[in-house]
Amino acid sequence: MKANYHTHTARCNHATGTDEAYVQAALDAGFETLGFSDHAPWPFASGYISGIRMGMDELPDYIQSVRSLQQKYADQLPIHLGLEAEYYPRYHDHLLRLREMGVRYLILGQHQVDSEEDAPATCIERRTEDGIRRYAEAVVRGIRTGLFVCVAHPDLIMTQPDLPLTPAGEEAADMICQAALEAGIPLEYNLLGVRSQLEGERRGYPSQAFWERVKRHGNTVILGVDAHSPDQLRDPRPWTLALEQTRALGLPLTEQLHLPS
Ligand SMILES: [Zn+2]
Ligand SMILES: [Zn+2]
Repeated sequence: MKANYHTHTARCNHATGTDEAYVQAALDAGFETLGFSDHAPWPFASGYISGIRMGMDELPDYIQSVRSLQQKYADQLPIHLGLEAEYYPRYHDHLLRLREMGVRYLILGQHQVDSEEDAPATCIERRTEDGIRRYAEAVVRGIRTGLFVCVAHPDLIMTQPDLPLTPAGEEAADMICQAALEAGIPLEYNLLGVRSQLEGERRGYPSQAFWERVKRHGNTVILGVDAHSPDQLRDPRPWTLALEQTRALGLPLTEQLHLPS
């Protein structure tokens, strides 16, 4: 079973390709389940307009487009409608509304500690020990809502893939692992990070030290392509390498997410 629940669309302004091209790429690559989880739009109270996600006005088209692909490809590929969202306590009700609008699942991709409108730079605070702790607290708050089906790139705060965790990094890893265990949701081994390491760009994740710690906690792990282009779904190299890496670490992999009905 080859499943990917972490797929973006061009609406986020940093992905390319038509929605249907992602479906065709998934079929070409032998995926048996495809979930769309583009970056969630937020009704920012300040009027801030994000450059890295769809606007609220684009959400109906996203929902409609995924639904029509579900119908068109019903015989070939199960397609699920999701979003990747941060957890911002002040916008808790917005996540509930997204679910009411038909978004079946949410993956927790925490890119800012609190609302992007206050601090648009992604995880700017991760560079300090205190920032890492506050980041982990934000992730844990999100997990504990029970609104999310997995944690995307839980090691986003780790900036160097081969370095040991700092004391705050160890605390953060333990907090996130423990909360995910209690919630019964898997942690995502992120293939965008694997790809960047293959290409020499060296994103900080996946962090070997982080995943060794995950192994000790006993969390279940799922691979996520985090596709920002159809070709990233088609390319077998990051998938194969991630399988090798997670097997070498002895991480228990799951292929399926438990989606709310
Ligand atoms: Zn993205
Ligand atoms: Zn993503």
